[in-house]
Amino acid sequence: MRPDILKEYSIYPIKIPTPFAVGDVFSYLIKDEKNVLVDTGQYTDDAFECVRYHLSEQELTIEDIDEIWLTHGHPDHYGQAAQLADRAGATVFGHPLERSNFGGNDDADLFEAFFQKHGIPKGDIQNMVNQLDWLQQFQLAIEPEWIQEGAVLNSGELSFKVVHTPGHAPGHVSYQSDRGVIFGGDLLLGHISTNALINFDAETDQRNRSLLQYRESLKWISEQGGLVLPGHGEIIQHAASVADHHLNEHKKRYQKIKQLLSKESMTLLELSHRIFADAIEKGALFLVLSEVLGYLDWGIDEGVIAVDDSEMEYRAIK
Ligand SMILES: [Zn+2]
Ligand SMILES: [Zn+2]
Repeated sequence: MRPDILKEYSIYPIKIPTPFAVGDVFSYLIKDEKNVLVDTGQYTDDAFECVRYHLSEQELTIEDIDEIWLTHGHPDHYGQAAQLADRAGATVFGHPLERSNFGGNDDADLFEAFFQKHGIPKGDIQNMVNQLDWLQQFQLAIEPEWIQEGAVLNSGELSFKVVHTPGHAPGHVSYQSDRGVIFGGDLLLGHISTNALINFDAETDQRNRSLLQYRESLKWISEQGGLVLPGHGEIIQHAASVADHHLNEHKKRYQKIKQLLSKESMTLLELSHRIFADAIEKGALFLVLSEVLGYLDWGIDEGVIAVDDSEMEYRAIK
């Protein structure tokens, strides 16, 4: 499905297969006075071939790319940006709070320290570190030109405002045109709820309260009109209903966690097993810990959950 507005503005979705559980990722070509790619796909031969093929359908080559605008530094979104930019002499833009993601994720030490503090068994930590290592082959580190909230990027006819929409990743941005199109990256996906992942501030190394950030970003997009062109799945025509659905699902899980913690205190790991045992069984421990931690941050923020700093046990206090 490509609503007419995309054709009118010469925006072409490029659907790229990935080796990741999420399935295909979308890069978007804006064929304006400049040729701009929004996100690129991961660093694999297949992804490169896919972009090359779609550009050729528009009578363009890789060398014709003028700019690459990145929403965030996950491998399926930026992995081959360095390679494409090298070939094309293109300028790449991204948000500075993605510095460690764009650098090939050099936060491994922070993650390990965090997991150890929370009593995660060594074997589980090793598995998560291995998963991070496995991702390395799908990305080439890059240092983009940094763009901040409120900056404006032009493709020619079209201009897009940079909106900082953190949560899924600390320096995640969306690109909002004045004519009703938003490149949303992984902020809002129609078919799945995206995760507010455990991550750290690039400047302070402090852990971000990513679910709280993510909820603010969802509330923002819920108030915008127009089409959202997501990184995965179908184009979203009613951002508000999708965003509000996710916000409500969060609320339900938050209630459930408060209820569990009113009966007994639990560590992050115990609580995670209690709620998402199946997902953990399938190897999604990192996603589960991220999700559950988000609700704990929320409860602490509202003063209804407390944590005992020595045991890292959480309990409801109201
Ligand atoms: Zn992502
Ligand atoms: Zn993604």
